[in-house]
Amino acid sequence: MRLVILGGPGAGKGTQAELLHRRLEVSWIATGDILRTAIAAKDADGDSQTELGRQAQNYVERGELVPDEVMIHFIRQRLLRADAASGWVLDGYPRTAFQAEELDFLLEDLHQHLDYAIALEAPESVLTRRSLARGREDDTPEAIQRRIALFLERTTPLLEYYEMRHRLIRINSDQPIDQVQQEILNHLGVG
Ligand code: AMP
Repeated sequence: MRLVILGGPGAGKGTQAELLHRRLEVSWIATGDILRTAIAAKDADGDSQTELGRQAQNYVERGELVPDEVMIHFIRQRLLRADAASGWVLDGYPRTAFQAEELDFLLEDLHQHLDYAIALEAPESVLTRRSLARGREDDTPEAIQRRIALFLERTTPLLEYYEMRHRLIRINSDQPIDQVQQEILNHLGVG
């Protein structure tokens, strides 16, 4: 199965993606985690930061989006790896219309298709509260505010994009984790 998870910061993308990865035995590809790891590599060992980390650091720290070209190049490489062949859940990608279109082109090239886009929906107040509570390094109040604004502006148009392609599943994520997961599995027909 090939899935993308859409949602604002704190919507529960990572939590639900990890559960789906275990349940469906597909690769879990979390672009935010991958970027943070690439950036942190520098701290451990002077100049060992990867090219990806160098390109992303400024953006991630400020809660801005890493440029589409960087992300599209990265996801192309990642989906070509052997472990992606049996399916995946993309957590945090795509985030812009351009990324979504390029993902479709890439899948066409690979003779693959996306099964569903799962939108985790929660009120803005819930997104803010949950993001502040998890206290990640890039979860400063300013960065959180910026990421929510960018989510509303750049990522919510993707709901329509996937709805028009009959791929969209909308889930209320302002509920307990197990309940959210169960609703997703029911929609996927594996509940
Ligand atoms: P996340 O952990 O998914 O909230 O992502 C953390 C940060 O990584 C975001 O605030 C962005 O700076 C960056 N990022 C992750 N995924 C993407 C993407 N698909 N496009 C652009 N930037 C991204």
